[in-house]
Amino acid sequence: MNELFNFNYFSRAERDSMDLHKVDFSKYLSQLSDKSRRDSKPSHCFYCREKNNRFCNSHSVPASFLKNIAVDGKVFTTNVIIDLPILETEKGVNSSGTFQIICRKCDSEIFREYENASNYENMPTDKMLAQIAMKNHLRNIGKRLFEKSLYEHAIAELGNRLGKQYANMYFKEMLNVSKIDLLDYIRDFKKAKKAIEKEWENEYYLFFYERLEYVVPIAFQGEVCLNFDFNGNTINDVYNKSKHYNLQSLHIAIFPMKSYSIVMLFISKNSNRLRQFYKRFNSLEPSDKLSVVNYIILSYSEDVFMSKSIHDRLVNDEELKRIVGLTTIHFADSPIKNNDHLEHHFNLSDRHKTPNFLLMHHDNV
Ligand SMILES: [Zn+2]
Repeated sequence: MNELFNFNYFSRAERDSMDLHKVDFSKYLSQLSDKSRRDSKPSHCFYCREKNNRFCNSHSVPASFLKNIAVDGKVFTTNVIIDLPILETEKGVNSSGTFQIICRKCDSEIFREYENASNYENMPTDKMLAQIAMKNHLRNIGKRLFEKSLYEHAIAELGNRLGKQYANMYFKEMLNVSKIDLLDYIRDFKKAKKAIEKEWENEYYLFFYERLEYVVPIAFQGEVCLNFDFNGNTINDVYNKSKHYNLQSLHIAIFPMKSYSIVMLFISKNSNRLRQFYKRFNSLEPSDKLSVVNYIILSYSEDVFMSKSIHDRLVNDEELKRIVGLTTIHFADSPIKNNDHLEHHFNLSDRHKTPNFLLMHHDNV
């Protein structure tokens, strides 16, 4: 068995049963999550290292930008497309894409420049890019710490119920990947922090920066590890467990402002494996570039937020369901050696089959 899990594999009957047992299941899941969150909480602020400071609800996309596409203070999560009864379909701006590993004081200071909309009148500075990268790493560190703890609890619990062999089959591989990723993100975080402190220039390479003169109905900020470039060549092999193999991530920001939108893509200057990708990307037509960005965020991340004004027909689009349903959840009964099996799931040439949110306008209904 070696299978990448897609949320769309749940049948109607399974969804109905999930709906029926929603209360029990949510209770179980929230107990497991609470336990994992408690255990994975660092003892000190990840940025200033001070203990006992109150942790802040940091946002991946700044709340002040997300607000621009909110309707009655709420936005859709990608579950509006996947439609699983046990996941949340809409969220308040204040609880969307949050993580808690730095203190309030740090959160109010270390992202200030890039979170200020007026700083997008000009090209973003080196400092702003480093701030975005640093937050993306912190967000992923928070995520991986939580997952590591969650998988450990799940292995222990399933092990007690079904036997160790089954528990390992489901979660061991994911636990291993989480642990390796975590080290990569911590290293990258330290580098971004240093770049800001030392005011290093050109540490990040902004290869795409576009101001669209309308408000897109979607918001995103994060880093993704592209599996393949346009020709199907591997960029990141997430299953490579060598200590010397580092993931090279692509930073993406889609910021809806009051009357326009910013879309930008950048990488760390040492990300050589992304060179073919950005060269080819830069040669594409403007609207095609946006379709690539749209495809990547929807297929690689669950941290995409959508305006509640999006059209119903999108919610039922089959290809959209397929790519949004893609997960990194992998069931394997033996160690996975490389990412070959992912190629037909994550294929950039599928980008034209997907409705492109970056060509749509947020309509404040
Ligand atoms: Zn702090």
